[in-house]
Amino acid sequence: MDRDRKFISGVAPPMERLEAAWWFAFKESKLLIYQEPSSVSLPFFIDFGELGVTPLSEHYLGRLDDRPCYAVEVAEGTIPPSGMTFEGLRQVYGRLDENLFWIAARAVQIVDWDRTHQFCGRCGVQMRTMTTERAKECPQCGLLHFPRLAPAIIVLVERGNKLLLARSRHFPSGMYSVIAGFVESGESLEEAVVRELNEEVGVDVKNIRYFGSQSWPFPHSLMIGFTATYAGGEISLEDSEIEDAGWFTADHLPRIPDKISIARKLIDWYLEEQGKSPSNHAI
Ligand SMILES: [Zn+2]
Repeated sequence: MDRDRKFISGVAPPMERLEAAWWFAFKESKLLIYQEPSSVSLPFFIDFGELGVTPLSEHYLGRLDDRPCYAVEVAEGTIPPSGMTFEGLRQVYGRLDENLFWIAARAVQIVDWDRTHQFCGRCGVQMRTMTTERAKECPQCGLLHFPRLAPAIIVLVERGNKLLLARSRHFPSGMYSVIAGFVESGESLEEAVVRELNEEVGVDVKNIRYFGSQSWPFPHSLMIGFTATYAGGEISLEDSEIEDAGWFTADHLPRIPDKISIARKLIDWYLEEQGKSPSNHAI
């Protein structure tokens, strides 16, 4: 599971279709995969039609290790070819090559954007897909649509040898995570960190530091991770989507998110800082 293979994004497909390509085919948000006992793989053909399935739309994504990659959308009633199945991206994480997984995470967003931006939001005419960049243009009024991206902050707050974890009503049973929330229009990332912590748990922070970022294709977020230090306030869950929150030591953690998420990377980073092995908490 390495990510050392090279992906170069692009929008203009090769002039001629002469070489095998990776095909990321989606029915709604489910990916068409070959189901094997301990792993999954993807179609790798010159033409997607070799599977006997006619796509509704096709989008060139770029090249992985100099092989073309395409996203396609197939009709809702499509029956998977023999030996194949449609599965949600979360379910294939860890079983599909990691490079292919993150290209699939792009592909699902492009397909969704294409499906939901067929007509101009201003004048209602059919949009035209541009060939020079990932965008759609209205032929009548010139309005441009780009793939949607919703930035969200996610922050690990340290207080001495404890970290802040909280439980959303929507989480699986018993799971806690770090605080996250969408950035509002007109807000900086740091302002979003401060506001979310105030709104959700009533806690103030200082020393807000960038940690890293991650595409989160459920459905089209960009998670921007931070660490911060507790600066005041007691946990209060009024007006909150959080049903429980608390300060946890590395030795007494509840169930935490799985390894796909930047939330887990933040928590694993904290455990390492505390001299604990993240692998003790593997799920
Ligand atoms: Zn228009």
